[in-house]
Amino acid sequence: MPESTILETTHKAARPSPGRGINPSGRMMRAMERDAEARIARALDRMRRDLLRGLNENNVRWLPQRLASREILQPFTDSMVSVLRDIAFAGAEFGQEQVERFVFGVQKSADRMPFTWWSPGLYSRMDAAGISVKFVKHRKEELEKSGLDESAAFDAAILDYYNDRLADEWTLKKLGVRQLINISWDLANEAAAEWALWHGQNLSGQLAKVTSTRIQKLVSEWVGNDESITQLAKRINNPKFGWFNPKRARTIAVTETTRAFAEGNTIAWKESGVVKKRRWNTSVDEMVCPICGPLHNVVVGIDGTFPGGHQNPPAHPRCRCWITPVVGGAEERETGLGQHGL
Ligand SMILES: [Zn+2]
Repeated sequence: MPESTILETTHKAARPSPGRGINPSGRMMRAMERDAEARIARALDRMRRDLLRGLNENNVRWLPQRLASREILQPFTDSMVSVLRDIAFAGAEFGQEQVERFVFGVQKSADRMPFTWWSPGLYSRMDAAGISVKFVKHRKEELEKSGLDESAAFDAAILDYYNDRLADEWTLKKLGVRQLINISWDLANEAAAEWALWHGQNLSGQLAKVTSTRIQKLVSEWVGNDESITQLAKRINNPKFGWFNPKRARTIAVTETTRAFAEGNTIAWKESGVVKKRRWNTSVDEMVCPICGPLHNVVVGIDGTFPGGHQNPPAHPRCRCWITPVVGGAEERETGLGQHGL
């Protein structure tokens, strides 16, 4: 399928539809892929140049091992971690937005912000919990008179409201309201960064290992023929060698963008405490994929594993599937709020 068609179908499939949650925009995903591709291509290129620097008759036999040396592997690992972290952060942010916009059916909207001291996302959290703006404004004014500064007064006003209206600890937990008022997206970012470090190290180790095996093969062949060192280097430098070329950068970029974004989403949903399940979505062009086709629309728990043992997309190299949050117990939430007169 030509690239333009993939872009179009993915984008169409990614349009938000009421009641189904927002999906990542195909355009945003493709932009991240392109950025990742350029950065990975540079990192692979640097790895190749570092590897071949100072190559001679004496050290040629150590070439495969040199690839796994800290000196050559570390800069590559650093680049991979940095690419993954950026995408995982974007994924976590998007996951947060999904929680705010669709879990609570509240759209962030600037014209609904009644105060100048507004903070992003606060309106949806208050609205979700049924906090009355009028009440908070009133309490804030009272508290300010008592000498608290503006933001402390505001925090106190909100907490007062909760204390007055929601005394039942268990209900708070059940509704996820407690997590919402104290929600810290910094924690999601921390978790995303940790994941990027862990996965980036594993990934670059694996990539180096498979590349090293190919170099080993090349060196073994070279030992058996009468080529010069320069000719060996030329073989490695040739894009046809396939292990440092743009095509490989592209495959890694597509696959890892899919992975890091889904990972970031999951981290944010877990952090929210209200997303209980997640759904696998397949790009239209992947519906015919024997691996991803059967996974389309499959729903598992927030910590669950999809059929085939996949924790999250990607299911295969260059997979462009994505996941969306499924909120359990919407009726339960409404009932709970109703009981407390919210
Ligand atoms: Zn897929």
